[in-house]
Amino acid sequence: MKNLYQKLYKSSPHSLANLLIGFYNVRQYKIRHGGAYQAFRKYYEETEKLSLEDAKKEQLRRLRSFLRYTYEHSKYYHEKWRNLHLDFKHLEWEEFKQLPFMTKEELQKNIKDVCTINRRTAVSFQTGGTTGVSLQVYYTPHNIQERFAMVDHFRSRFGFEFGEKTAWFTGKDLLNSRDASKHRYWRTDRQNNIRFYSTYHLQQKNFNYYIDNFNKYQPAYFSGATSSLSEIAKGGLKAGIKLTYHPKAVFPTAEMLLKEDREAMETFYGCGVYDQYASSEGAPFITQCRNAHMHMELMTGVFEVLNCHQQPTDFGELIVTSFTTEGTPLVRYRIGDMVEMETKPIDCYLKYPIVKSIHGRLSDCVYSRETGKICQGNLVNSVKNIKGITRFQIVQNELDAILVKIVKADEYIKATEEPKLLKELRIRLGKEMDIQFNYVDEIPRERSGKYRIIKNNCNEEI
Ligand SMILES: [Zn+2]
Repeated sequence: MKNLYQKLYKSSPHSLANLLIGFYNVRQYKIRHGGAYQAFRKYYEETEKLSLEDAKKEQLRRLRSFLRYTYEHSKYYHEKWRNLHLDFKHLEWEEFKQLPFMTKEELQKNIKDVCTINRRTAVSFQTGGTTGVSLQVYYTPHNIQERFAMVDHFRSRFGFEFGEKTAWFTGKDLLNSRDASKHRYWRTDRQNNIRFYSTYHLQQKNFNYYIDNFNKYQPAYFSGATSSLSEIAKGGLKAGIKLTYHPKAVFPTAEMLLKEDREAMETFYGCGVYDQYASSEGAPFITQCRNAHMHMELMTGVFEVLNCHQQPTDFGELIVTSFTTEGTPLVRYRIGDMVEMETKPIDCYLKYPIVKSIHGRLSDCVYSRETGKICQGNLVNSVKNIKGITRFQIVQNELDAILVKIVKADEYIKATEEPKLLKELRIRLGKEMDIQFNYVDEIPRERSGKYRIIKNNCNEEI
């Protein structure tokens, strides 16, 4: 059915394709915004007002109920926990911390036994394969409604109303060859007031068509892949093409938001940029508050930050338990990201813990014999004071060498900037590492449509 739909869609003229996208989305939105959606909007509005103590009580209540559900419905977890004799009604944090971790590989291997629902009728999501492990996870409609209520609740902090015109950058292949030859890089869902823009045609020569269309359509909100939204911003700024109206907000998703991307977006779109962290396998949410902190949303799950001895720490691996994953339960799941917690006391209307920074995937690291494992967040800082780098990627194919691919802008002066960058990289990776620079016109995206800053193909882990 899905294939037939896709075939019909790909071969249909622009206006019919718009209509089809509308039908498809009506079905999707019925699930997302139906059922318990409104009740969850209210729930998030109310729980956000709780003191930290009361919030933690509510979080524990939800944890108990989620763990009980998981034990009763998931064959995999049932077998794993059988000998622990858990009393879900009175379960305390100490008992929770006895539960085994779940890894991405383990989840992939046992997905059939982990899953609690009929996979044919469930809402499924394919997660990105950027770490080499691609997964299909399954959601109940009830959980989907809660997740969308959470996202819309977060966005409502910045004035967002569902139904107002939105420009959406999607990794889906939307267009046929006729569209591209006419420089029409979008499809419109009129019922829901969303224009979907292609992320596959984001080249300097096309930016004027995109931006010209923004000015005609005038979306109030921009949403979608961080790299796409920032590329248009940088491209527009470079070519001096401006927006002739004022959008209300930009909501980047799915990729790490770097400082320079944020700055370029704020300048180009001329409005606030509001960040969120979640993942397609269903992690709980970390969202930006009205005071620009990133808070752990305690009502969406449990967050643990642990060091390599599995003890709580301020800067370590993030382990998540996500209440909205009843279809494919995630309990103490090693999602593979590093986070740094804010340790200074900060006064905010929202009492949830504050994350200072998210350092991206553990697998997005460079290994050095001298300095160990250096993660993406740290390496990104090495280009902070280098002028004129449009995009870069560090590729490691063997333990003692890296290749730094750079897409440079006019301001990049090789004679001064390259030694500066080399010095910054040496600070992080040591004196012995062989570091080569390669200036390229373009850095290709991954199949998922995302860019990777670190590409580690080195199997010799240290
Ligand atoms: Zn805050």
